[in-house]
Amino acid sequence: MTLLLLLLLALPAGAAERQAEVGIYSLRKLSAVTLEPDGEAHAGGHPLAGKAVMRVRGAMVSLDGRHKAGPARTLRARGGVWLSGKGLPRRLYRGELIFSSRKGRLRIVNRLPLEEYIAGVVSGEAADLAHPEAYKAQAVAARTYALKHYKAHSGEGYNLCDSTHCQLYTGSAAVKRRAREAAEATAGEVLYYGGAPAETYYHSACGGHTEDMTNVWPFPGKPYLAGVRDGPRGKPYCSIAPRFHWKTKIYYTGLTRLARQARWILPDETAQGLKASAWGESGRVARLEIQTQRRRVAVSATDFYHGIGRRAGWNAVRSSWFSILRGKDYVFLDGVGSGHGVGMCQWGAEGMARRGFKYRDILKHYYPGTEIRHD
Ligand SMILES: [Zn+2]
Ligand SMILES: [Zn+2]
Repeated sequence: MTLLLLLLLALPAGAAERQAEVGIYSLRKLSAVTLEPDGEAHAGGHPLAGKAVMRVRGAMVSLDGRHKAGPARTLRARGGVWLSGKGLPRRLYRGELIFSSRKGRLRIVNRLPLEEYIAGVVSGEAADLAHPEAYKAQAVAARTYALKHYKAHSGEGYNLCDSTHCQLYTGSAAVKRRAREAAEATAGEVLYYGGAPAETYYHSACGGHTEDMTNVWPFPGKPYLAGVRDGPRGKPYCSIAPRFHWKTKIYYTGLTRLARQARWILPDETAQGLKASAWGESGRVARLEIQTQRRRVAVSATDFYHGIGRRAGWNAVRSSWFSILRGKDYVFLDGVGSGHGVGMCQWGAEGMARRGFKYRDILKHYYPGTEIRHD
């Protein structure tokens, strides 16, 4: 019996027990954060009874000024802990929280089972979807993406960050039952192409055809990210997406401001026209031209989409699949879909699931040539 136990303990941790270390509030420069227990919790080796403040000063972290950890040391919290602070969204974390100083700032790492992290990511990324098979497809895509990018932040002392740079992760409070079930049902399943995990990009709604990644990003393409027609012509799988069709009016005054800020045009230039000048195979715009009083300036559709998104919100221009209608002092963008269009179409996955496809069919459709393996 004891021998068996020892043997079991000596086995390497399988995927089901694999832990993820996620950098929390990773885009923020923090010097302090407030902890609050959710049920039973410990912090700094003591029961956490009420609110306590974790603070960094130089290379030291301290909890309510009492428990200190010197350079290269950490303070830990276990159980359910709410984190909050000035200007921070209040969020609940389970598993373990590891606090330390990094370059004089507070570094917070949430260590938790990989599948719990996946359930958290899927809850956020697939928030509007409903069908269990769509959730399962999203869980496999999210897990594969996480493992592919597992070393993205090794220099910062964790595996993944909690922003969309990796995948959005906002802790345990918003984890949905459906997401947890999807993570459990597909536990350890990873999408492979050749001998390596695939690059499983995904987006909200493709508009009818996913896009070859080389038309969107300046990276070498992947055979399984070449773009596929998303269902029957005229009635794509993702046509069930809310605001599948969208229209946005852009005044030249606003376009001028944006184009100057983005340094596409010079401060004395004025935008007086906008037209598409190149298209990808799906129909998405690849390049645009801004007409000023003295020249035409070429802008990639990806830059344009990101430039507008950052300044006017991501709902203004929802994708790069649009046609441009000219008005007197404005243009109308008449578009379909939402997001970059590369890889899995989330609303298409939902549409396929509603038509009876299983998650394996869905993943094969959006990432052709890949196969599911147990990692
Ligand atoms: Zn990241
Ligand atoms: Zn689609």
